[in-house]
Amino acid sequence: MEQRCFGATGCHLSVFTLGTMRFLNGWDEPHDVLPEDSLENAHGIIQAAVRAGINHIETARGYGKSERLIGRVLPYLDTPRNQLMITTKAPPTETALEMRHQLDDSLERMGLDRVDLFALHGLNNLERFQLAIRPGGCLAALEQARNEGMIGAIGFSSHAPLPLLLAIMATKAFAFVNLHYNFFRQENRAAVDLAESMNMGLFIISPNEKGGLLYDPPPYLSKLTHPLHPVHFNERWLLSQPQVHTLSVGLSMPEHVDIHMQSLKHHPYWGADERRIQAHLTQALAKSPLQRCGPCRRCLPCPVKIDIPTVLRLKHLQDTLEMGSFARFRYDMMQPDDHWIPGARGNVCTRCGDCLPRCPQQLNIPDLMHQAHQQFSR
Ligand code: SF4
Ligand code: SF4
Repeated sequence: MEQRCFGATGCHLSVFTLGTMRFLNGWDEPHDVLPEDSLENAHGIIQAAVRAGINHIETARGYGKSERLIGRVLPYLDTPRNQLMITTKAPPTETALEMRHQLDDSLERMGLDRVDLFALHGLNNLERFQLAIRPGGCLAALEQARNEGMIGAIGFSSHAPLPLLLAIMATKAFAFVNLHYNFFRQENRAAVDLAESMNMGLFIISPNEKGGLLYDPPPYLSKLTHPLHPVHFNERWLLSQPQVHTLSVGLSMPEHVDIHMQSLKHHPYWGADERRIQAHLTQALAKSPLQRCGPCRRCLPCPVKIDIPTVLRLKHLQDTLEMGSFARFRYDMMQPDDHWIPGARGNVCTRCGDCLPRCPQQLNIPDLMHQAHQQFSR
């Protein structure tokens, strides 16, 4: 499998990364109990991924049993540890000592004395960002661990809106970034460009599942991407961009690796079929006035905490590409005070009108919020 240099980290990562959130019963409590069927499933998945050429395994302290399952499987793979790259992630902590304890514990769970890459997990809002970079805090602990050889390079993952994402990157404190970016969600394009100009590693979070539930696409979307599966189109669109280094693929069964391998079959990634499909999709997306809603975010803040641009993005995908299942899936996850997927439901819009004069596209935002809620609640 093609490998790409992960920016200044110096690591060479396969273009697919094995995401490990989906091992069988991997979220069941207690997380330190590893049933035989979960171990078998984890072994099958990791072995299949590695045999397919994936050399990067990505996990997090917060992924249930994942670190522990990886630790139990690694000694039994065909491939030695030194041919694999491993990333784990931990949330920012109040103190350097807490972060050191988290790192020590993660290494123990995985039976390792070193991870190649370590990311601060979920720098999603200003509060978590400030906590992460507080002088003498958790980032300092990670830098110390890097100097001691326990970590190869330090990065961060984020679901933050673009302006915060750019601000975190501009600190130059991180060698790589994990972010959302795919054909159906392009508003982070400026972060992708900044990562390239800063020589940062660029890891794309869940481009097919959280990017659009593309494993089970709506028929209309499949028609538009014919003869490619939407997963293949999306992955080829991403891989045709050299600044994108690796895409996470979260397998729940070993054989699921096959669908991704098909994306790599033909070169170049961007040819006549892909250009034609892009034209079809662009034409379909342009049929709605919501196409004009860019990532400007001037409509915010909304006093009742609706993430207006995200609701409109989901509505746009439902209205034009019939991606209603995906839109409902993401909309249902939105919570006003959650930092992962923040935002209140459209039906709480009071029609105060604050957002209206700020929208350069003169969209009727209050009507759109209520319409979107009706659509997503069906
Ligand atoms: S009109 Fe609705 S969406 Fe706009 S700011 Fe007021 S409450 Fe928020
Ligand atoms: S201000 Fe208007 S165009 Fe900009 S993100 Fe908000 S709704 Fe979209």
